[in-house]
Amino acid sequence: MRINKYIANAGYCSRRKADELVDEARVQINNRIAKKGDEVNENDIVRIDGEKISKKAVSLEYYLLNKPAKVICSNEDKLGRVTAVSLIKSRKRLFTYGRLDYMTEGLIIISNDGELYNHIMHPSKKLYKSYIATVDREVMDKDIEILARGVVIKEEDGTKYRTAPAKVKKLNKKNEVRIAIFEGRNRQVRKMLKTLGYNVKALKRVKVGDLTLGGLEVGKYRALTSDEIKYLK
Ligand code: URA
Repeated sequence: MRINKYIANAGYCSRRKADELVDEARVQINNRIAKKGDEVNENDIVRIDGEKISKKAVSLEYYLLNKPAKVICSNEDKLGRVTAVSLIKSRKRLFTYGRLDYMTEGLIIISNDGELYNHIMHPSKKLYKSYIATVDREVMDKDIEILARGVVIKEEDGTKYRTAPAKVKKLNKKNEVRIAIFEGRNRQVRKMLKTLGYNVKALKRVKVGDLTLGGLEVGKYRALTSDEIKYLK
């Protein structure tokens, strides 16, 4: 088994994070520093920062949280802000899958199953995430079509990208729009709307694939059902 998968299966972190640990030379296999792509066998001993990790998979936990605004999705924050994982009562080392920005509310999956990362996040899986955005003026019909076709986003560092086709719908309130995207670029929905001159006043994620918030109140969470877990994997 590849080293990144081994670490993820042990419930330590996501495969992507495991790659970072390997790049940072923090992972050892049998007392030798691991390289990306190394294979690990049954009898190998893997250490992270010198600490042996168990090769037996830890029991996996899966939650759906209705994240409030002013909560961050990273597990640590230099500014001491509240983290999404800290809202879940669990002894496990949990991670968020599919980040929401600090001010965005709504559905986020939290788990210690590193395998979920690709299933939820990778654009090739085409798992649509739906957002309701409240903007600072009436949304024009012509802009709905433009957003649905894809817009070009210019990043601060000068790089540009075109967003993939999205599902976009005007809602009953004139300044509300529902946008479903399967990509998960940084602040993508806010930036898509900004390209057409709309400022987002509030953003809420209401769906990830077929999973919805149901009646879950802001700040509350629930365990995923076994069918939901099967669906995500
Ligand atoms: N798009 C955004 O702009 N913010 C999020 O939190 C998620 C998607």
